[in-house]
Amino acid sequence: MHRTWSGPEGSSHKSLCLRVPLFYIFMKTDEEYMMMALKEAEKAAKADEVPVGCVIVRNGEVIAKAHNLREKNQQANAHAEMLAIQKASKKLGTWCLQDCDLYVTLEPCMMCTGVIGHARIHKLVYGTADPKGGTVDTLVKIKEIPHLKTYPKEIVSGVLREECSSILSDFFREKRKKPKKDKTQFQTMNKPA
Ligand SMILES: [Zn+2]
Repeated sequence: MHRTWSGPEGSSHKSLCLRVPLFYIFMKTDEEYMMMALKEAEKAAKADEVPVGCVIVRNGEVIAKAHNLREKNQQANAHAEMLAIQKASKKLGTWCLQDCDLYVTLEPCMMCTGVIGHARIHKLVYGTADPKGGTVDTLVKIKEIPHLKTYPKEIVSGVLREECSSILSDFFREKRKKPKKDKTQFQTMNKPA
């Protein structure tokens, strides 16, 4: 026998469901998602990578997490945002992430700002500004570039700013204490035979 459940006619429960999508119940705050991005940044710091972390959220669900892997991968473009976007696109089977929000601990660089726009990320949330490379609000104000339309509809900055900033300053302070890496090996490797 085929059964279908139906609530009382004109039920307020039904009209509430129509107005409030189910995923709203599972949605966390910007701070909570940024905390997850910070956890990713911590993983980077432990691996001696510049501590930047990123998560991508769709309908309240985290669909991709990544941290900077430039040293491990020896790739200039292995930034947290790039890796997270790659993962999210693979998971969803599309380059177009228009219903996704991206949380990153540091203001994106020129490369990542471009890709975030091309991927059609809906909302960008970042923790701390990057005075040396940030191209969302700092070196460049993305919204003020004439004719440019490919940037997130919503941009939020300063979420857990202190935490996102101090993980970077602590990392670089420790780095300065350590002796610099010996580059002789690299130079020898690249010497013509
Ligand atoms: Zn970047």
